[in-house]
Amino acid sequence: MRILLTAINAKYIHSNLAVYSLEAYAQEYKKHIELAEFTINQTKDEILKGIFRCKPEVLCISCYIWNISLVKDIIREIHKILPDTAIWLGGPEVSYDAPGTLEECPEVTGIMKGEGEETFLELVRYYVEKKTNLSEMAGITYRTCTEGDIRIVENPWRDTLDLSTVPFVYADLEKFENRIIYYESSRGCPFSCSYCLSSIDKKLRFRNIELVKKELQFFLDHKVSQVKFVDRTFNCDHEHAMAIWSYLIEHDNQITNFHFEIAADILNEEEIRMIAGMRPGMIQLEIGVQSTNQDTIREIHRRMVFERVSGIVRQIQEGHNVHQHLDLIAGLPFEDYNSFSNSFNDVYKLRPQQLQLGFLKVLKGSFMHEMAEEYGCHYQDKEPYEVLFTRWISYQDVLRLKQVEEMVEVYYNSNQFLKTLPAMEKLFETPFRLYEALGEFYEKKGYMEISHTRLRRYEILLEFLMDKDPEHMDMYQELMIYDLYSRENMKSRPAWAGDLTQYKRMFREFYQTEMREHHFLEGYEMYDERQLGKMTHLEIMHYHPDTLEKGEYAFLFDYQKRDVLTYGALAQEVEV
Ligand code: SF4
Repeated sequence: MRILLTAINAKYIHSNLAVYSLEAYAQEYKKHIELAEFTINQTKDEILKGIFRCKPEVLCISCYIWNISLVKDIIREIHKILPDTAIWLGGPEVSYDAPGTLEECPEVTGIMKGEGEETFLELVRYYVEKKTNLSEMAGITYRTCTEGDIRIVENPWRDTLDLSTVPFVYADLEKFENRIIYYESSRGCPFSCSYCLSSIDKKLRFRNIELVKKELQFFLDHKVSQVKFVDRTFNCDHEHAMAIWSYLIEHDNQITNFHFEIAADILNEEEIRMIAGMRPGMIQLEIGVQSTNQDTIREIHRRMVFERVSGIVRQIQEGHNVHQHLDLIAGLPFEDYNSFSNSFNDVYKLRPQQLQLGFLKVLKGSFMHEMAEEYGCHYQDKEPYEVLFTRWISYQDVLRLKQVEEMVEVYYNSNQFLKTLPAMEKLFETPFRLYEALGEFYEKKGYMEISHTRLRRYEILLEFLMDKDPEHMDMYQELMIYDLYSRENMKSRPAWAGDLTQYKRMFREFYQTEMREHHFLEGYEMYDERQLGKMTHLEIMHYHPDTLEKGEYAFLFDYQKRDVLTYGALAQEVEV
């Protein structure tokens, strides 16, 4: 029997932990199971060819919001070229309306609902041993055909699994080279956010902590660059989170970064102290704020107290050792354009390394889906089921927020305009207005749909500023040059940057002294003055990049020492 487990990921660097878990859980039937991963960027033909060459008798495909249309396309064609292959689907995109999916896709034999390990094992047993019966199998909805009578049979959902019984899937790390490692130390979420499918399964379970430590040690020993925990709210159990974080601190390999989704407002003092003591870059935190409008928060069944979240985000920030990523969602109930701009400004004030603006996705099975009519919430029929308009926000405003989102991605989240943006913010009533105006400018000039080079982004910003504050262009140009050099030691200086020829002699003297005395460039002892000059960059500013005070300032950029949070080169003010 040949059974093929298939995942179609959003990007090459992603891997699909679910199919690996299913494969590992059914290891007693190892010789019958193959696994194939594709990406949505491959053509349909390539995926078809890949599946066809395996000639599976049973094909199981993992379905998510990012691949469901492609999956439906593929199964239509697969059924033509492999008409006898049984096709089973699983994953959140098909679990909550299994009969609907079976009606829509006549090629599909059945759906595995909810967590799949035990169900997949039984299904494999059914096909290999041919002793069991589908009617007795929990967790599936399937199609039967007796004497031409086709029926859809819905079996009950399966009880939740003991997470510690799922084998570790990464023993062969070669398969995951240059890809993100996803790891699960808990399953389920105790919270009830109305838009989220994880709120449906409230049975929160943890993997045995000794097992978790052993597996984390494996990643540490293999110097994996990043491990992303898929735990829905990693810190929902204090003891579990503390045990993992203390283990990581004690066994740190100075390389691996661990990513966690947390609820910031439930972090306690002990956890905050522990985070403060971590190696810079050892962990990164993703924190869902979603909105700071209290009516919205109440309506979506979140319990977040924003004042507490901000206090904690600020406390963590003091250590300058943890990358923080804060999320907002547009299109939620009671959130209109102005209220969203307030949420944005509240979160922006916290200066996270990343501020992600997402748009509500109305997922089948969620409470939000049930409430959509009441909220006047219209959303796309097809995935990603994104909000179009609601009682509170028009489609026109959603489009304006999309522009803001794009500008935040390009200018804020890139961390490439760290000195320029604060100066620009002073021109606007609020940060939101800045990104809104930038978005409008991009739209007006027809820049929105084009992919621009990094340098071009700076030039566009100069164009924008020429419109808004022409008297201070010299200052903005200098701040942008500072930002540019802080990322990279550019080979050619932009035409609009000030000419440094008059400082050449001073620079030479500086590097001569530095070669002898190493006041600023520690670790460069083996290089001569010419090499020092090439490896670093000296910039003269006539505005201080932090205070914007006029004067003459020299900054030395050291590219060997970078900020772990922003990737910016170390910039030291020097005397030349
Ligand atoms: S959004 Fe996060 S906290 Fe809320 S139910 Fe989903 S996983 Fe849990």
